Amino acid sequence: MEGGIDTGRCIRYFEALTDEGAEQQGMKLTVLGSGTGFPSSTRGGPGFLVQTGGLSVLMDLGSGTLAKLHGLGVSLERIGPILITHLHPDHVAELVSLLFALKNILVARREPLRFIGCRGLAALVKKLEAAHGEWIRPKDFRVEIDEMVEETLSLGDLRITAVPVEHTAGSVGFRVSDGAGAVLAYSGDTDFCPALIDLVHGADLAVLECSFPDEKKCAGHLTPGEAAQAASRGGVSRLMLSHLYPECDGVDLIAQCRPFFNGEVILAHDLLELTL
Ligand SMILES: [Zn+2]
Ligand SMILES: [Zn+2]
Repeated sequence: MEGGIDTGRCIRYFEALTDEGAEQQGMKLTVLGSGTGFPSSTRGGPGFLVQTGGLSVLMDLGSGTLAKLHGLGVSLERIGPILITHLHPDHVAELVSLLFALKNILVARREPLRFIGCRGLAALVKKLEAAHGEWIRPKDFRVEIDEMVEETLSLGDLRITAVPVEHTAGSVGFRVSDGAGAVLAYSGDTDFCPALIDLVHGADLAVLECSFPDEKKCAGHLTPGEAAQAASRGGVSRLMLSHLYPECDGVDLIAQCRPFFNGEVILAHDLLELTL
């Protein structure tokens, strides 16, 4: 299932960016933003850092992602690949900020910046470059974009699979697995759909969006009950609810999961860390 992806380029990229000195201690997930596109003083826009095998993988670039990365001491020189689930502004909000920051003299990036994302991502980057010109056009490194619909890409021991989900045309979720067999599934934004069960199947941790409580169901998004049903049907070990709109505040989301899922349910908050 690796059609269209240059495997040699993947290997070169992996060798260039992996930190050989990094001790491999499983896959570590850090929540950079547990919120949405709606402004919040406590929750940043959707963004996650996955550290595994010496790579710092980002999933979505919501508002506040870069500041959180900086606070964690993760260098922009080493980040990547960056996985983008879909092109709604809350998930790509800091695309321009990232490209602009990489122009800064303090960042000496030479390695390609790799994006793995939904259909339309390359066109979006082109339009942003047309709008901002030299301010965001990289000088010392290349931007490489692989749009994936239903494919798996390997970077060393890391396997990244895109699974189409039901949100906007081209929206995908990602399964990330490492050499030790740990599996992380991330939904991006989605409604309940059969593909969601495939996406989370057997995952050690499923990070699912949970935009609104059960009583405020909104088409194109999940409620806690639906996320729990997906986790249950997919045989997930741990479920994390994220992408929380203010409507979720003060609601017992975990109680809404309980009729459907007996495993551990975690409410995401910014800078929450978990090791798989
Ligand atoms: Zn969203
Ligand atoms: Zn969306």
